[in-house]
Amino acid sequence: MDTKKLGINTICTHVGEVKDEQFKGAVSPIYMSTSYAFDDVAIKRYPRYLNTPNQEALCKKIAALEKTENALIFGSGMAAISTTLLAFLRQGDHIILQQTLYGGTYNFVLEEFKKFGIEYSFTKDMSVASFEELIQSNTKVLYIETPSNPLLTITDIEAVTTLAKANNIVSMIDNTFASPINQTPIDFGIDIVIHSATKYMGGHSDILAGAVATSNEFTEQIWRTAINFGGSLSDFTVWMLERSLKTLNLRVKCQSENALKMAEYLKNNPNVSKVYYPGLESHPDHELAKKQMNAFGGMLSFELKKGMNAMDFQRALEIIKPSMSLAGVESTMLNPAVASHALMGAEERAKQGITDELIRFSVGIEEVEDLIADIEQALEKITKK
Ligand SMILES: *Cc1c(COP(=O)(O)O)cnc(C)c1O
Repeated sequence: MDTKKLGINTICTHVGEVKDEQFKGAVSPIYMSTSYAFDDVAIKRYPRYLNTPNQEALCKKIAALEKTENALIFGSGMAAISTTLLAFLRQGDHIILQQTLYGGTYNFVLEEFKKFGIEYSFTKDMSVASFEELIQSNTKVLYIETPSNPLLTITDIEAVTTLAKANNIVSMIDNTFASPINQTPIDFGIDIVIHSATKYMGGHSDILAGAVATSNEFTEQIWRTAINFGGSLSDFTVWMLERSLKTLNLRVKCQSENALKMAEYLKNNPNVSKVYYPGLESHPDHELAKKQMNAFGGMLSFELKKGMNAMDFQRALEIIKPSMSLAGVESTMLNPAVASHALMGAEERAKQGITDELIRFSVGIEEVEDLIADIEQALEKITKK
């Protein structure tokens, strides 16, 4: 099967199935064995080697989605990120990372790199110039995340990878927020694409997993580190993720359409002072987002009017749930100042534009009319007080 010729829903549904030769069942059987005959394949099959039948099949589906030669899957997004970074960095090397990153990635860099003697720099903003000015002779990796969390800034993937290539630097992107449906960074020259599959790929808030998609050569390099760190994904979860990916395009398409409608509604809401969504023409990077994204994703952020209590607002909601995580089929909200970015401290939050009134909204697949009604009734409750 030449997966390059297939449509996105066909890839989601069929690529990387494990054929049930014995019973001709409609879906992939699960192989839970941790022990396989030694002569089965050249490298012995073993879950930590990421080469059980279900693991291999799922990797094919993810590679097809990201249009890469190969892919690997991990026990969490952080296992994918940490393993990939350490596969390319050694003592004395230097990495440049984008200023705003997922909190776990930021902590990993701050707490672990010192132990390995790896130097790092964070850019002062998302511009290409801010990456360029940090390049040193020992810079080996350039790491970006777009759209970013929680303010949905956009980094120019093509400009950053052009810079990396010119300086012999490996480029990596955390593509979690966009998902491969809305953004395939390989089209813009990125070397390595990383996902927390816990989010859109899983999509039902019941799977913890990570993925990396890249060339055969880089897959081999990451794999050699992966088998030492051992952050593999259990075959049962592999099977759950394969099942979830069948509806990835349907879910993300619906979530992206809903998010655009919700962003437009919130923009016109008198109780809302700001909306951050790359799909809005008023977003400073809207044109760039249009160039590198197919749709603008299911994540947005908005600010309630100054002085309104974001926690009271969330407690007053009846359909939209408060939640630390994101990207499920159900709509959820989070107040970064007291949740995801609480440890950052008020001063740094203010510097990054994360106010107390800011709310991150992970838009689900519900009817927008119901979501709007829920927000309206919650606003009415808290403004009446
Ligand atoms: C959640 C998340 C991660 C970490 O993934 P886990 O599966 O929780 O380990 C990394 N990057 C982004 C953008 C995320 O949202």
